[in-house]
Amino acid sequence: MILRLFLLLTAVLLWLFWPAVTPVKAPSHGTTASCDQLISWRLESIDPAFGLSTAEALPLISDAAAQWNQALGKEVLRYDPQQGFPIRFIFDARQQQQLEQLLLERNLHRYDNRIEDQQQDFEQQLAEFQKIKDDFAEKDRQLAADIQAFNQKAQQADPGAAALLGKEQAELLSRQKEHALEAEQLDALTEKLQDRQQQLNNTIADRNALIPAQQSTGLAEVGLLEQRGNNRTMTIFAYKDAHHLTLTLLHEFGHALGIGHLSEAGSIMHTQLNSAQQQLTNADISAWRQQCEGG
Ligand SMILES: [Zn+2]
Repeated sequence: MILRLFLLLTAVLLWLFWPAVTPVKAPSHGTTASCDQLISWRLESIDPAFGLSTAEALPLISDAAAQWNQALGKEVLRYDPQQGFPIRFIFDARQQQQLEQLLLERNLHRYDNRIEDQQQDFEQQLAEFQKIKDDFAEKDRQLAADIQAFNQKAQQADPGAAALLGKEQAELLSRQKEHALEAEQLDALTEKLQDRQQQLNNTIADRNALIPAQQSTGLAEVGLLEQRGNNRTMTIFAYKDAHHLTLTLLHEFGHALGIGHLSEAGSIMHTQLNSAQQQLTNADISAWRQQCEGG
């Protein structure tokens, strides 16, 4: 009778003190895993909206798991299509936003290439124009000086030299006419250059108009690792490209291995995805050792 009561009481106590079942995002504290722990995973589902097939996703996930195994020098993650913890791809606004962001980046890139070409072209034409303008200014000075010299000579000249002066005057007039024509050409060239500049500015304006006035705030969570006791679930919400997805998988696998967030920007376990991340770093590896050795 007493034994029965005791058993019942134990059950009630167990129930009372059972760990809360709220999702844990980053199980940095909690039960210390053994360094020999082997965690198996499986691909549960991919929302068709991702346009990602199982055949495409599996090698990417396997690669991320293999990177951890290699970095730690032992198998800590294993593919097990029956018993592994589920990995699911859930499509929502985050992925839509990623796709829009990607499209925007591509468009901007195209514009930037065009602007760069136009700018180079414009600068070259501007340099040529400057040279023509300098030549013209030099000719202008020379012509003015020649006309002044001629006028002086005409004032002092005796009537006998009139025929010679007449020839010189005709030459000067012809040069003046040619000079006026060159001035017109220079004006036309200036206009052409201004058109080019306008064109370039329009392209730049078109490019800038693509950028939304309100830049979307960075999407903090593109992946999530939930853990209750030994039950884990990985959810991938969004990714930009294969590299981005691999980084997210590496990060969430890190959580599955019991690692929390790190402050080193280049580390895979840094709070947010960033451009410094390439592969697992020493910081990631020591974080794993620390948590499994009870650090
Ligand atoms: Zn995280």
